[in-house]
Amino acid sequence: MKIAADLHIHSGLSPCGHDDMTPHNIVGMALVKGLQMIAVTDHNTVRNLRRVEAAAKDYGIILLPGIEIQSREEIHVLGYFPTVEAAEAFAEALAQVLPKRKNVVKLFGHQWLYNEEDEPEGEEQALLLQSIEWNLKETIRRVKAFGGVAVPAHVDKAANSLLATLGFVPPDLPVGTLEVSGRYDRESDPMRLGSYQLIRSSDAHFLRDLLEAEENYELPTLSREAMLAYLKGGK
Ligand SMILES: [Zn+2]
Ligand SMILES: [Zn+2]
Repeated sequence: MKIAADLHIHSGLSPCGHDDMTPHNIVGMALVKGLQMIAVTDHNTVRNLRRVEAAAKDYGIILLPGIEIQSREEIHVLGYFPTVEAAEAFAEALAQVLPKRKNVVKLFGHQWLYNEEDEPEGEEQALLLQSIEWNLKETIRRVKAFGGVAVPAHVDKAANSLLATLGFVPPDLPVGTLEVSGRYDRESDPMRLGSYQLIRSSDAHFLRDLLEAEENYELPTLSREAMLAYLKGGK
């Protein structure tokens, strides 16, 4: 079956995420867009996933628990997990290697945590948008160790990507899937990424930017397990 999904969305917990990106707003917009599965992937944290999961259940949408990690080389890597608990266990380990700096709201923006009514109930105090101590290889290894699947993010972008950091995408990364930006022409594949599966998501920081139901995944069932197996792509 074909599953319409957007697997890279930021909530208001990401400093760059708009204040409208509350759990219910995100899920409601996903419903309007006709998406069946979404992943909320905040920078170096998963603290809104429980709320999003509850909202998604109400709306009949599947949440794939996720996170967007910034490695030591400033490369962004998406991590996807089978359960919110697994994602939380991973995030706990990640918090140990996140440099101890406090967020400065004026400079970076709010990092909202939401209650069941979708209202801000507090803010994450740690500065989330910074590089952790794990390098790319270690980051991928750790995601796998917690039962997750790692997908390097927006690899063709000019910042926080494999291309920006290394100047190319190594053909032998221990991942099956790469995320490319909306501008990347997957047909002509100018970066020769053919040894990987290529997916595209919105990387939405505003509600209107969520994908339309246009990125379809051929899965045996509409489930987290099926999506994770697809993203793993044999690796
Ligand atoms: Zn990113
Ligand atoms: Zn992102």
